[in-house]
Amino acid sequence: MATMKLAAIAVALLLPLVAGVASADEFDFFYLVQQWPGSFCDTQKGCCFPDTGKPAPEFGIHGLWPNYAKCRPAEPELVDDVEMVVDGVPAIGRHHRRQKCWPEYCNDGNQLNPWEIKDLVAELDSHWPTLSCKSGRSMEFWSYEWKKHGTCSGMDQHGYFAAALELKKRHSLAAILADAGIVPSDEESYFLSSIRDAIADATGAVPNLECNRDAFGETQLFQVYQCVDRAGKKLVDCQLPMQGMCRDRAKLPVF
Ligand code: AMP
Repeated sequence: MATMKLAAIAVALLLPLVAGVASADEFDFFYLVQQWPGSFCDTQKGCCFPDTGKPAPEFGIHGLWPNYAKCRPAEPELVDDVEMVVDGVPAIGRHHRRQKCWPEYCNDGNQLNPWEIKDLVAELDSHWPTLSCKSGRSMEFWSYEWKKHGTCSGMDQHGYFAAALELKKRHSLAAILADAGIVPSDEESYFLSSIRDAIADATGAVPNLECNRDAFGETQLFQVYQCVDRAGKKLVDCQLPMQGMCRDRAKLPVF
């Protein structure tokens, strides 16, 4: 009997390793990733508005992502699936050793149940809208983010979405930037250092910034990564460098 129990425990402990899934509580900090909708839409691909209508001209949540402080070698059987980042910098097109810098898909059986978050839906609709043209249903975006990142957060479904909303509502990035004279414009461009400093001064924590290119190839501010402690509560300085496709200046297109 005791042997059987021991064997069951051993299987339970080893299964995640054999299946190549990361353990839910194995990460160092979160990124709260917020996105400027103008920069998501203003690319060659374009965007579509959600069923709930055009979102406000405010940064929207992309996700709350558990992350490692130091990248690790990827397990060989996962190599084809992992997203490539070397030293915190996306390494697309570079031939480095494969690394894994965050856990993902920690429990594929744990699908988002809309009932679990029904009291949050109204707020999620305004703060975490989809802009995908595949579907106007933001729930599909939340389900994807839950499956990929949320299942690794150590939080339950309600806790995960409530934590992201709570963090997001603490500061309005658009208002912070506007106070620093950084306002949406289709002509103006702004120093990345001014954007970073404005957010750091107002929130007390240095963020990372990611840019993309508009349909004419011009650099625009795409996403702001705020670092959050493991509990999902306190903003902390982002320590990992992020190249993030930025140059010294970027646009903030009108939305
Ligand atoms: P992730 O895999 O969590 O890094 O998210 C990347 C995926 O999310 C890509 O497929 C993007 O197209 C999608 N995505 C990013 N922003 C949005 C958005 N606002 N609405 C819907 N999908 C998005």
